Parts: sequence; structure tokens; C-alpha cells
Amino acid sequence: MAYLVPILITLGTFLLMEFGAYAAHRWIMHGFGWGWHKSHHEEHDDTFEKNDLYAVCFAVISIALFALGSTYVPVLWWVALGILFYGIFYFIFHDGLVHHRWLFKDPPRNGYLKRLYQAHRLHHATDGKDGAVSFGFLYAPPIQKLKQQLRENRNG
Ligand SMILES: [Zn+2]
Ligand SMILES: [Zn+2]
Repeated sequence: MAYLVPILITLGTFLLMEFGAYAAHRWIMHGFGWGWHKSHHEEHDDTFEKNDLYAVCFAVISIALFALGSTYVPVLWWVALGILFYGIFYFIFHDGLVHHRWLFKDPPRNGYLKRLYQAHRLHHATDGKDGAVSFGFLYAPPIQKLKQQLRENRNG
């Protein structure tokens, strides 16, 4: 039972990170932070993207919280763990599954992963900073809805 609360905090942080990631992606990365994120929306053959610096930022936040958690505020350790898990999930499924940077070669054929894949592909359907859809990741909205939104964005 002693671990129930920590587990819930970690799980809750993991789920809440989706809102954090959505907000950061929509209003920072596609906003004033486009300078770094742009590299992720362009074709290239390089191993790294300037956009990877965002992953570094999230890692630094997580490491700082681990440090605070193990010294002053124990609960932050579990929050840090939730952020770490979200980062790992993102690294596996965004970088691996959707962008084929490692681990996966083929697109998923069915279920949740297929929807996640398609939803993020639609995020990359626009060229520039504006008019994009599907800023979250863990929660993939229905594909039809995203396509509809994309059409509306295109027509201004
Ligand atoms: Zn983007
Ligand atoms: Zn992407």
C-alpha cells in the first residue's frame, strides 16, 4: 500500500505530461520556439535535429526534479519519474515508430499505435509553423476529425 500513492503520482504525471507536451508543442514550438522546432518539420539526412534540444530541456527538468526529490521534496522524485516515462514513451513511439529514427521500420497496421502514427503524420502534413493539427501525442484524436480540421485551417 505504501507504494500506491507514489505510483498514482507517477502515473498522473505521465498523463498530465500530455497536456504539457501539447501546450509546449502548440504555443512554444509552433510559436516563439519555432527556430528549434523547424528542423523537425523539414526533410533531411542528419542524425540529429535542432529540435532534439527540446528533449534535452525536458531531460534537464526531469533531472533537476530527481535531484530535488532525493534531497528536499520526496514527492518530486515520483513526478520526475512520470516525466521520464513520458520522455521514454515519446522517444520510442515518436522518434522510433513515427519517424523511423530507430527501433521500428514499418508503420503499425492496426489499433492504437496505427491511430497514433496517423495522427502524428497529419501533424506533419503542413509545411510551416501555422495551420498544423494534432499537437499532442499520447492521445490521438480521430483521424477524420484531424483531416477536417486540417481542411478548415487551409481554407483559413
Ligand atoms: Zn510540430
Ligand atoms: Zn514528429
